Formats: sequence, structure tokens, C-alpha cells
Amino acid sequence: MANFETVEVKTDVLIVGGGMAACGAAVEAAYWAKKHNLQVTMVDKAAVDRSGAVAMGLSAINQYVGLKDGKNTLKDYVNYVRNDLMGITREDLVADIARHVDSSVHLFEKWGLPIWKDEAGNYVHEGRWQLMINGESYKVVVAEAAKNALGIDNIYERVFITAPLMDGDKIAGAVGFSVRENKFYVFKAKAVLVAMGGAVHVFKPRSSGEGLGRAWYPPWNAGSSAYFTLKAGAEMTCQEVRFIPVRFKDAYGPVGAWFLLFKSRATNAMGEEYMQTRRSELQNWLPYGSVKPIPANLRNWLGMLDVKDGKGPIYMRTEEAIKKLSDAVTDPKERKKKLKELESEAWEDFLDMTVSQAILWAATNLVPEEKPSEIAAAEPYFIGSHSGASGAWVSGPEDLAPPEYNWGYSYMATVSGLFCAGDASGASSHKFSSGSHAEGRIAGKSAVRYAVENPDEPHASEAQVNALREEILRPLDTYERHQGASTDPDVNPNYIRHKSFMFRLQKIMDEYAGGVSAQFTTNRQLLEKGMELLGLLKEDASKLAAPDLHELMRCWENVHRMWQAEAHVRTVLFREETRWPGYYYRADLPSMDQENWKCFANCRWVPSTGEWEMMKRPIIPIYAEAGEHELLGG
Ligand SMILES: Cc1cc2nc3c(=O)[nH]c(=O)nc-3n(C[C@H](O)[C@H](O)[C@H](O)COP(=O)(O)OP(=O)(O)OC[C@H]3O[C@@H](n4cnc5c(N)ncnc54)[C@H](O)[C@@H]3O)c2cc1C
Repeated sequence: MANFETVEVKTDVLIVGGGMAACGAAVEAAYWAKKHNLQVTMVDKAAVDRSGAVAMGLSAINQYVGLKDGKNTLKDYVNYVRNDLMGITREDLVADIARHVDSSVHLFEKWGLPIWKDEAGNYVHEGRWQLMINGESYKVVVAEAAKNALGIDNIYERVFITAPLMDGDKIAGAVGFSVRENKFYVFKAKAVLVAMGGAVHVFKPRSSGEGLGRAWYPPWNAGSSAYFTLKAGAEMTCQEVRFIPVRFKDAYGPVGAWFLLFKSRATNAMGEEYMQTRRSELQNWLPYGSVKPIPANLRNWLGMLDVKDGKGPIYMRTEEAIKKLSDAVTDPKERKKKLKELESEAWEDFLDMTVSQAILWAATNLVPEEKPSEIAAAEPYFIGSHSGASGAWVSGPEDLAPPEYNWGYSYMATVSGLFCAGDASGASSHKFSSGSHAEGRIAGKSAVRYAVENPDEPHASEAQVNALREEILRPLDTYERHQGASTDPDVNPNYIRHKSFMFRLQKIMDEYAGGVSAQFTTNRQLLEKGMELLGLLKEDASKLAAPDLHELMRCWENVHRMWQAEAHVRTVLFREETRWPGYYYRADLPSMDQENWKCFANCRWVPSTGEWEMMKRPIIPIYAEAGEHELLGG
């Protein structure tokens, strides 16, 4: 592409991504870098003010441990996460994030985020770990602090990071392209911190036709973290642990406030409460079936059993919950006031973070205080910071991690100089927005330390840069060269456009890897067939074509998704059991095997051979006392 300018940027620490983890990393890395006269640069595919999963705002901060109040301990949080993940978690990472998360929340408040307070001036909790916020501008507030810390000249927006730049098996930077101008970017750095979020649209979404593109997880996070770390040769963990949220149907509105704050019930069409009628099923998943709160995947599972038995739709009983709360007020005038307050809270919950759910309610004449609203299990997502766990296998903190989990700098992947946070780092779920920010801060500091102690200039050969440039820009050439071969730009014997490619990927994953149409169920034969089809799709990736920069980004997003898909299918195949029913069910191996599979299932794509390696890694309890681990569901 002769008319493409190559822009080279040299820096000490490069942060890729501009979301919660990246903004946390920016604040901390900038502080420590200044002390050592180092430069920190951040690059985001979008505009940092409104990028990532928090773009639209949130109505709650989901991780606040409240260590200072003395109500919760680190051990409480670790127990909660371990149980929710059916025993598979890195306790060192969860505890490390939990001991730093409160300070991130206090920073948000200092920077201007309104956090709800009660009359005594205490934070209003949605649940044990969640705080209610007026969060429409949450991301703007967090971004402003990051921008102030880094300085605007060190931030590149609307640059799509496509691949890592390597110096042998050490990271040397990243390459990508502007989605607005004909510019190919080559960032060279001593340390790179990956925080490009998780992945959506790997599986076919429930939404189709005019709703296409609507998903619980924002469509702009497309597996770039997984692709980047895999291509750098990093070991990955928990790639089988996808997340399926149960949300208000079709617009994916949040259910947290309804379950936790309004204490609503969910029932099937017959009015039965599946959490009660299906309770005995929990005995099949002990010890986790007996813990409180019941793990998210098991709650999903009980509802799914009702759906499989033809007892849908499943409803959130909003009318019942609002009535119960307002009836509790005896004075009629006060009761009326309370009712109004509850109605407005119900709508604001959506308006703060999922505006389209409010629009759908309005469009379907849904009055929450009068009738119930449908909820449903969404398609699977990869979001290691929420209730999934997929991400890179990273080194733990020196004071907490056993030798098996520690190989140097905290949050460094198994590739020298490559750091990960938020959705990009694995086995430390339930960090959410605040924990991702806190993890970003720790990882950012660690990356600066690496750059100080490894001062050699980053080196990447010209041949490597040229080859990457050619490969990354190829879809533009392909379109240019072949567009005349047919009259319909979408149908051409020489190329495939991004949408058709994505549909193929989603169909494979949906039907063979346990998506919505397969009732989240799969088996060895289906997975093997899926692998075969993914192999053919991979061959066709070199035929992707794009008429402009926007579609070039779409092409690469789908390549990134495809790699996330492959890591997932390989790991679901490798783990010979069903551990997370409600997320996926192996019909050929329908029960949990604690003896052989209470371990991490890790994988690695080996750059020198192009082959995949699969390996088990041990679960090492840190917070449970002897004998207590199993009782806690460990
Ligand atoms: C629907 C939904 C609801 C949620 N609700 C809550 C809640 O109520 N409370 C709570 O605390 N948490 C909530 N979370 C979790 C929270 O949003 C995430 O934990 C957090 O945003 C993860 O931070 P991150 O930095 O890893 O990813 P993100 O914040 O998503 O940031 C990813 C960044 O990477 C950038 N990026 C992606 N690809 C590229 C690329 N190729 N090149 C350059 N940049 C790229 C994006 O533009 C973005 O800036 C929710 C998440 C979702 C999806």
C-alpha cells in the first residue's frame, strides 16, 4: 500500500487498550515513570472517554471489599470467588486485587464519581460487595485522570492494535493502523501492558435482523487481548471458562439491582421458582452446590433445566418486588412516594448503563410495577474480569504467590516484558470495573519496574515490521484487486468480507461448541467437527477483503475472535468433565471430576512451530486453612 504512511513511535512502556485496566495502569505507570525519567504511551482503538465495557456508564461498582470497615476480609473475598468459579481460581491474584481495590474506588470518588450514600454518610451497598453509583459518566471520570497523568501527547486514539512486535521470544512493541487515516503504526517499547478487554460475537448472538449487533458484552471488544498474547507465545489459562449472563431478554438489561436491591424472584411461566423447585439438582455439584451465594453458573443451570422442560418464558417478577417494597410502608402518602421512588430507580438502573433496555420496555408497553419482564440466558462471552476467567497466565505477587505461580514481575505473562490486566489476565475473575482498574495500577507499576531494570532499547527487525505491514493491510489490496469480478460487492469468488466471515465463525461456535441453539451443550465429536471447520475458516482468513479502513478493522476483529474461538474449543476438548453447567455442558462427560480435573487447563500456541500445547497447572490453596478448603467448596 504505497499511500500508507508508516509512523514509528518509541516509548518505554506501552499500554494497549484504554478501558478500566488501561486507565488504572496509566495513572500508576505515569507516576513511577516520572521518577525514572521514562515515557509511558497509551493506544486505544476508540476514544478513551467512552471506550470499553464501561463506555455507556454503570449503575454499580461491583467490587468493593471495605477492608477498613472491618466487615469483610480478604479471605471472605477469595472464598466467594473460588466458590463461584467451582474451585478454579488463582487465590494469590484474587487476594492481591482485593487488597488494592478499595483505594481505586476512593480515587474514583475523589475524581468526581457520585457514589450513593445513606443518611449516616456510608456507601449504599447493592449487595455485599457492590456499591450503587450515579455512573453515567463513570468512564469519562476515570479517563480524565488517566489523560491528566499521561499527557495528551502520549495517547493515541482510534488506532487498532493488530499484533505484537517481537524480539525473539521477548516483547518489543505492537503494530496497528489508524481507523481514520492511512497510517500504519509501529510502537516499540521495553514493556507492553495488554488491556484490550475480552471478546463478544465469537458465538452467534440471540439478536438477529434489526437487532443484530446487540449483545450483553459491548461488540467493540473482539478478542484482541487473547490474539495479542497468544501470538506473542504466552501461556493462557481458563480459556474454557466462558460467561453466560442471565439478563432481561433482548436488550440485556442488568438484573443485579432487581435480585440484590429489590429482592425480586425469578419464576417460570407456571409461577414456579426454579431456585426452589430445582434445589435438589445442586447436590450433583457438591461441594459448590451447597455454598452461599450459589455459583452463577449453577443458578443459570437451574433456570436452563426449566427452559429445556418447556416451562419458559422465565420472568423477573418486577411487579411483585415493587409491591412488596412499597407495601412495607404503612403511611399511604409515604407509600405513594416510595412507589414513585422505586419506579424511578428501576428505570434509572437501565438508563445508567443499558439505555436500550429502557427503550425496549417503553416500546413494548412494559410497566415494571404492573407486569413481569422476561429474562434469558445470553450467548457466551469471554470476560475474565467478570464471571468468566479466561486470559493470560500471569506471575503472582511475591508475598502471596507460591513458586508455581511466580516467575518475576507481578502480572507479567510467560513472555518477558509482556504484562496483562483486566480481561487480558486470567484466573482472577470477579474484579469487575474497580478491580480491573486496581489490577491495571499494580501491573502498570510492575511494567515500569521492568523497564527500569531492563533498559536495553527494544529491537524488532525491519523484515518483521514489513511482513506484518503487508499481512495487516492485505484485505485492502485484495478488495482493490478483485472488486470488479462481480456486480455484488458481498459475493465474489476471490474474497470474503468481514460479515460473512463472522457469520461463519458464529455458526460454527453456536452449533458445535455449545451456543444458544445447541442449548449450551456439546460433546467430543461436535468439538472435533468444530475444530475441523475452524481450520477451514482459518485458511480463508487470508482472503478477507476490505474497501476501507473501517472494514479493515472489522476484518482483523474477526481474525482476533477466531483465535479466541480456537483456544476455547481446544480447552473445552482438553478438560474431560463438566464443571460449569450453566456455562457449558459436555453431554459425553456430564459430571465433575474433582480427582483429575480440579486444576487449571492451560494452553499455548508455540510461535516457532505453529503448534498448540495443552497443559494442566495445579490449584494451590492459600487462604483456606488445612481441611477447610473442601468445606468451603475449594
Ligand atoms: C455489560 C457489562 C456490564 C457490566 N457491569 C458492571 C457493573 O455493573 N459493575 C462493575 O463494576 N463492572 C461491570 N462490568 C465489568 C467491567 O466493565 C469490566 O470488568 C471492565 O471494563 C474490564 O476492564 P478492561 O480494561 O479489561 O476492559 P474494557 O474496560 O472493556 O477496555 C478495553 C479497552 O481495549 C480497547 N481495545 C479493544 N481492542 C483494541 C485493539 N485491537 N486495539 C486497541 N485498543 C483496543 C477498547 O477500546 C477499550 O478501551 C460489566 C461489564 C459488561 C460487559
